[in-house]
Amino acid sequence: SIKLKIRDTRKTYGPVVALESTSLEMREGEFLTLLGPSGSGKSTLLMAIAGLNSPDSGEIWIDGKLATYLPPFQRDIGMVFQNYALFPHMTIFDNIAFPLRMRRVAESEIRTRVERVLNTVQLGHVAGRLPRELSGGQQQRIALARCFVYEPSIILMDEPLGALDKKLRDALQLEIKALHEQLGITVLYVTHDQEEAMVMSDRICLMNNARIEQLGTPDELYFRP
Ligand code: ADP
Ligand code: ADP
Repeated sequence: SIKLKIRDTRKTYGPVVALESTSLEMREGEFLTLLGPSGSGKSTLLMAIAGLNSPDSGEIWIDGKLATYLPPFQRDIGMVFQNYALFPHMTIFDNIAFPLRMRRVAESEIRTRVERVLNTVQLGHVAGRLPRELSGGQQQRIALARCFVYEPSIILMDEPLGALDKKLRDALQLEIKALHEQLGITVLYVTHDQEEAMVMSDRICLMNNARIEQLGTPDELYFRP
């Protein structure tokens, strides 16, 4: 079924056209990557889907509902950014449990779900620590776990591995894929790293100059020997 539908969306900032005639559909459970140079409109498209900016025209449909004018908190969307933004005074366990407690999930269920995602990101042993006691890579793993744990309808990720070194990026790519496969959540991912897009995506959407230039599977877009 169709999870997300963007129809002919345009967004300008004064004289700057950030997004032009943009249309896109994602099916449930798909992992789709927006790939393109800095300034091509990737973040603007993510923010429009999240409800953090308002398009000048066009429509955004989430789960078959017109969402163009819905406030962000009514969209059931999770976001992960480059800077991990954990709650500094809460333990790792409480950080991940937070979105579940907001939704009044039972504590026994919370324990099961938090332990499962902590194991997936290989950090079961840090549950009782505070964020500042973790490395940057570990904190980003926790931010990813916190986003996946409450199983939002769609997860948007804006260069979540951009602040990490190559070795950590490779490890976290695998963990993001493991979380995605374990929970089957629809993921829209942003990167300017072609190799990362190739490894992770069901489909890749090439953006340039505020437009989608090509859309297809990694095999359709790139020759692979
Ligand atoms: P990307 O995420 O691909 O780097 P962006 O969506 O951030 O691209 O930016 C697209 C274009 O819109 C760029 O020219 C950028 O400078 C411009 N832009 C983005 N946000 C703003 C803003 N808040 N005010 C003015 N211009 C913006
Ligand atoms: P990215 O390439 O990851 O989108 P940017 O540095 O382009 O990062 O943008 C970071 C933030 O600054 C975003 O919130 C974006 O909307 C805003 N921004 C980007 N370009 C401009 C601009 N020309 N004027 C004002 N704000 C901008």
